[in-house]
Amino acid sequence: MLIVKKFGGTSVADKERIYNVARRCIEDYQKGNDVVVVLSAMGDTTDHLLELANEINPNPSKREMDMLLATGEQTSVALMAMAMGALDVPAVSLNAYQVAMHTTSSYSNARLKRIDSERIRHELDSRKIVIITGFQGINKYDDYTTLGRGGSDTTAVALAAALKADACEIYTDVEGVYTADPRVVPNAKKLKEITYDEMLELATLGAKVLHNRSVEMAKKYGVQLVVRSSLNTAEGTIVKEAVKMERMLVSGVAADKNTARIAVMGLKDQPGIAFKVFNLLAKRNINVDVILQSVGRDGTKDITFTVGRDNLKEAVETLEEYKDSLTAQKIEIEENVAKVSIVGAGMMTNPGVAASMFETLYNVGVNIKMISTSEIRVTVIIDETDVDKAVRAVHDAFLEE
Ligand code: ADP
Ligand code: ASP
Ligand code: MG
Repeated sequence: MLIVKKFGGTSVADKERIYNVARRCIEDYQKGNDVVVVLSAMGDTTDHLLELANEINPNPSKREMDMLLATGEQTSVALMAMAMGALDVPAVSLNAYQVAMHTTSSYSNARLKRIDSERIRHELDSRKIVIITGFQGINKYDDYTTLGRGGSDTTAVALAAALKADACEIYTDVEGVYTADPRVVPNAKKLKEITYDEMLELATLGAKVLHNRSVEMAKKYGVQLVVRSSLNTAEGTIVKEAVKMERMLVSGVAADKNTARIAVMGLKDQPGIAFKVFNLLAKRNINVDVILQSVGRDGTKDITFTVGRDNLKEAVETLEEYKDSLTAQKIEIEENVAKVSIVGAGMMTNPGVAASMFETLYNVGVNIKMISTSEIRVTVIIDETDVDKAVRAVHDAFLEE
């Protein structure tokens, strides 16, 4: 069997944990399997590197930022190879350049395009454990890129697809995918299985247990995932195409504080205006989420939408620059908002789910600023300070028997 095993930052945070991971990988290796290990940077390394950069230059070039962030993962793979060496098991660490993991050129948010597998195959054939840096890639300029925060999951799934692995295991600091973030909702329940579609929604809506692109890729290439703990052997959660169980009305609650709201006000109420606003942002690679357009009055309308907080500054600067050609009178922002969502395939056939969610929020005194829905999701934008309260209330309403 060829097994891809990915371990997140907390799982390799110190010497003991690195040895713990090394032993778990060696166990599979000694059973005769080919083992490919993908690692994140140790502990809070990526955050520290970001702080360090900010001290030197609050507006660094994105290229240099990726050059810096790529060092985090390189440290952990080298140390892991050394740990395995100390345990007398042959291992080799490889970074994105050495493997050749090709990505699009956009720094800080690159997408994997193609992975060369020759070097990995060659190392596996000589019976080595191959340890690969997560989160990073190289672009057509031979520069390092990164895949966005949490991107190591995506590296693991992409490798599993490219190598046609028999298993792809994501090890983290919780025992699997829960009905809500177990750190916020202590009585959240671990799911045995979840579909790609539900997991993709949860991940996109803020459940950071899996990087959303990793789920997108797993679905596309049919890579079944298991999410489990690196610290114990509890059964994890399987992420796959269809689940056997009866579809739950709601399978999970997610929250995302990385949200800001922008209102572009007093736009001319005529064709092409929404296109202009969102085309400008798309050209700068700014992802827009919940969108609301007001009913026109006196020939004008407002368009309100959310973006990630890390994109807020660039989005507003762009809109301000083109304010006149957009016919906007005023641009307003609200930074301290957050998104709370419920996800569940069962919603498709059950009307009234959205209404119960709104009732629950009303009962705990949470004001809703914006609403957006899909077939399997209801999302509300609320004040950031209300998030934990809202998540617990909604979880209790839908997921507590
Ligand atoms: P890693 O470093 O292993 O990639 P992350 O911190 O990226 O780990 O993701 C794991 C964290 O995701 C957990 O510690 C948990 O707080 C959070 N989380 C949010 N929503 C969920 C959920 N529905 N199920 C499990 N964990 C969740
Ligand atoms: N080290 C990167 C981050 O902190 C990637 C990852 O952990 O998946 O976002
Ligand atoms: Mg992660």
